[in-house]
Amino acid sequence: MLFVDLRDRYGITQLAFNEEWDSALLAKASELGRETVIQVKGEVIERSSKNLQIASGEIEIKVATLNVLNIAKIPPFTIEDETDGGDELRMQYRYLDIRRKPMRENLLLRHKLGMAVRIYLSQLGFAEIETPFLIKSTPEGARDFVVPSRMNTGQFYALPQSPQTFKQLLMVGGMDRYFQIVKCFRDEDLRADRQPEFTQIDCEMAFVEQEDVLQTFEGMLVHILKEMKGVDIQSVPRMTYDYAMRTYGNDKPDIRFDMKFVELDQALKGSEFKVFTDAELVVGIRVDEKADFTRKELDALTDFIRRPQIGMTGLIWAKHQKDNTFSSSVNKFFDPDALASWGQAFETKPGDLMLIMAGNEAKTRKALGELRMYLGNKLGLRKPNEFAPLWVLDFPLLEWDEDAKRWHAMHHPFTSPKPEDLHLLDSKPGKVRANAYDIVLNGHEIGGGSIRIHDKNLQKKMFSLLGFTDEEAKKQFGFLMDAFEYGAPPHGGIAFGFDRMTALLGGQESIRDFIAFPKNNSGRDIMIDAPASLQKEQLKELQIELIIENKEKG
Ligand code: ASP
Repeated sequence: MLFVDLRDRYGITQLAFNEEWDSALLAKASELGRETVIQVKGEVIERSSKNLQIASGEIEIKVATLNVLNIAKIPPFTIEDETDGGDELRMQYRYLDIRRKPMRENLLLRHKLGMAVRIYLSQLGFAEIETPFLIKSTPEGARDFVVPSRMNTGQFYALPQSPQTFKQLLMVGGMDRYFQIVKCFRDEDLRADRQPEFTQIDCEMAFVEQEDVLQTFEGMLVHILKEMKGVDIQSVPRMTYDYAMRTYGNDKPDIRFDMKFVELDQALKGSEFKVFTDAELVVGIRVDEKADFTRKELDALTDFIRRPQIGMTGLIWAKHQKDNTFSSSVNKFFDPDALASWGQAFETKPGDLMLIMAGNEAKTRKALGELRMYLGNKLGLRKPNEFAPLWVLDFPLLEWDEDAKRWHAMHHPFTSPKPEDLHLLDSKPGKVRANAYDIVLNGHEIGGGSIRIHDKNLQKKMFSLLGFTDEEAKKQFGFLMDAFEYGAPPHGGIAFGFDRMTALLGGQESIRDFIAFPKNNSGRDIMIDAPASLQKEQLKELQIELIIENKEKG
């Protein structure tokens, strides 16, 4: 008796060969190597020893004919759910990696998400419309990938960082509900888990206010979670950017667990502890039932926040012990009564731990936010099968760039200020809030958008705040401002990160294994070996050298 596992996209089927049925066939089968491509005909029969772990585990095929279509070399890593192949090797032989079940399932999940989105949006009257990939480079945002034009010597296209201006022009064109599952390109410095080309679910609607956009797209997320995960979400909670920053230390909080920030000001009155009295902010979190953290565990937390990426100098802890007494790392400065008043501020129960940091306001909040996430991971509070979406609203319109000494649009320059903050635009630009929103899932920003400016003068004003001269604005975005003069409807939209959403639905944090052919951490496709240099002839045709020479000559 001989068994062969036949694998295809749909799973594994066991082939059975038997000396008694056909000894020549058995001999042929015994020579099959791994990954050989075969064709068989036979009879489906009930298995004697069933494997209920796999879908086809109750049957096998009594093979009548076996045809070898193509033999295979031994693959460089095992084609199994748990492979011995490292990341680079798997990417080099991605077609073999895709034969593995987890990869296959990821790609099918991606397809399923695409279908769910298309069906949901189409039913609401959204039309999928393509926008061009060869467009014009603009200085705003990230760096563009550029493409030389052979027919227009010395000129370059840019690949879109997003279809933003085109989707707005579609609104001016009267296509009042648009979406597109679309590639976007950003030539950013590489950070872990960033891809230079990635996919967005890009959407725009005309004649809407912020509330319409929020309801439409929270409906989409609820639909997706139900359809793909069987998860029922009643509504998506909302919080302002300010609240998120003060309560979680970042603008994309994971609300699957609590650990909200507690600011200690009242509780510190009269203390002589310099670390606290000199600080702009003293803030902490309560870690439930962890007063039994050992010295070693607490030291590890201190080490974590002292890492250069976080850069805090110290962490103060206080324990509300099981016997209702208090102790802390600063016993010298605070007596038990003082510590008990901290306990009140943190609303501790016996057995809870308080972790406190002090210092510069923004830095301390950010650091505590990192510590909160670290603990969330460490204590298993970030459960991959739990889904907690959230809207973050009222982002600031602008942020100050200290290096360039100028304002940047926090979302993008087409985002409209809140009407009630318009009067601050000249006097206190940093205080103006935008009609901008992010949708967050499990601590990741999965989408963001805004209500747009649709008035030429306001758009002009926005560009000038961002440091464009009228001329520059006209040169870069004249087409958009012109369009606003021909009856532009109020409009707004959002774009979701399609790769990220797929990964989160697949219960993972990294997007790379949800993309069929991703780039590695240096932006390379190591399978096809790209990017690569060009032939001299190609360069000549593009006149690249000439362009530089001419530029240098002025
Ligand atoms: N185009 C924006 C982005 O890529 C999204 C939007 O405002 O709709 O972030």
